[in-house]
Amino acid sequence: MATTLHHWKNGTSFEGTGGRFSDVTNPATGEVTAQLALASEEDVNEVVAAATAAFPAWRDTSLAKRTQVLFAFRELLNARKEELAAIITSEHGKVLSDALGEVTRGQEVVEFACGIAHLIKGAFTENASTKVDVHSVRQPLGVVGIISPFNFPAMVPMWFFPIAIAAGNTVVLKPSEKVPTAARWIAELWKEAGLPDGVFNVLNGDKIAVDGLLTHPDVQSISFVGSTPIAKYVYETGTANGKRVQALGGAKNHMLVLPDADLDLAADQAVNAGFGSAGERCMAISAVLAVGDIGDTLVAKIKERAVGLRTGDGTRGCDMGPLVTSAAQQRVSGYVDAGEAAGAELVVDGRTIQPDADGEGFFVGPTLFDHVTTDMSIYTDEIFGPVLSVVRVDSYDEGVQLINDNPYGNGVAIFTNDGGAARQFQNEVKVGMIGINVPVPVPMAYYSFGGWKSSLFGDSHAHGVEGVHFFTRGKVVTSRWLDPSHGGLNLGFPQND
Ligand code: NAD
Repeated sequence: MATTLHHWKNGTSFEGTGGRFSDVTNPATGEVTAQLALASEEDVNEVVAAATAAFPAWRDTSLAKRTQVLFAFRELLNARKEELAAIITSEHGKVLSDALGEVTRGQEVVEFACGIAHLIKGAFTENASTKVDVHSVRQPLGVVGIISPFNFPAMVPMWFFPIAIAAGNTVVLKPSEKVPTAARWIAELWKEAGLPDGVFNVLNGDKIAVDGLLTHPDVQSISFVGSTPIAKYVYETGTANGKRVQALGGAKNHMLVLPDADLDLAADQAVNAGFGSAGERCMAISAVLAVGDIGDTLVAKIKERAVGLRTGDGTRGCDMGPLVTSAAQQRVSGYVDAGEAAGAELVVDGRTIQPDADGEGFFVGPTLFDHVTTDMSIYTDEIFGPVLSVVRVDSYDEGVQLINDNPYGNGVAIFTNDGGAARQFQNEVKVGMIGINVPVPVPMAYYSFGGWKSSLFGDSHAHGVEGVHFFTRGKVVTSRWLDPSHGGLNLGFPQND
């Protein structure tokens, strides 16, 4: 019997009035595990009202107390992260070790946010003018909205909410309706950690919930992660409604392999980054650019590794799990059909995989294409599945041109033993995150994460210093304490003296 999942407001479950529900599925078995309540506009208003009411007290809670709650949350998360990983695997499908890795990455942002007292410090200038001092402070925004994608049910929300909460904001998280349970689990953990009711709220739903947050006058900012068309829509609608918006979009990440590279290392990493999490990562490599005459050798090495991978239920120690939904499985298989029809050489066919799983899961195995050309849909589109395309290019310059011409600019990697080439590459490539002899790098909490071009709308990347900046507003205070020199009329713009 499938359970019903509700929203979370004011530290407790909230049924709402939406009356609409969607299925939550275990993608490894195809089984419907829960019904998710989808928010109505009224529900959005109620949840935002709870966050609005909680803001004044949380904003004025001392940094010492806010930090204590953050530390308590970190300790609970660290002690119970296997539970969260199991939830992620059961709704997303990624293998357990990968789910645990995702939680660990998110936890690192919590650890970063524990340093909020230092991160939020302003500056002080004594005697900017005679006996006039100037100082700056950063203050929280108010209610902040977070809208997250299905592919990282815990990590992506954790890119934002630890910093938002530490800085004194209150949060409404709208998780992906495909993977809602992680957000609910996290909400309960915050309560256990001592976070006051109303500071962290969860609103489940679809476009109605998103639009409600984008247009609500009491929501001050939106942090969005998802596909490029929706990211653009969220950015345009949110900013048109006066909000601060950071909207991270889709990706088509290239890996440039130069002829002098260690091809075994390059093949290992192409397989790890191409097929890890069934290619459902914004940091996945989907196009390998083989420079010069290394194509045959590189493809043989990738093939040898890809065919050895075990695909199946993420709880069974497999290398790769299913895709998130039956629709995603059909979409990815459709791209494989299209690649074949367009004349690419299908080296490994994932459509025929025999997964290690029970039931009717949504599996596509590792798939490798060679001799892909840039007009094929398997090259132009973000497939978001375990499909790796090898494009052969004649030179470094041709490879860089392809990367820079691509509308996406999330991540990129170069494999080479030539330090000069790597240095030139990181200087001239128009992409936000670059790996040198590592595939697209994983996010580090104390740096900011995000792409260029159609992979990011807005100015702020996620977490790190940019995250602190995004979730706070600056103020500059100029002060003079009375002394015998005060007063007098002077209608001109003051000169410093
Ligand atoms: P998605 O765009 O379909 O959904 C993201 C969020 O938007 C969800 O919460 C969803 O409910 C909501 N949404 C969906 N359609 C909407 C609509 N028409 N109007 C308003 N809201 C809508 O993305 P997804 O399939 O959940 O996630 C995969 C995508 O996310 C990929 O494109 C991937 O590259 C991207 N992604 C990017 C990053 C990054 O750092 N740039 C990280 C993770 C995922």
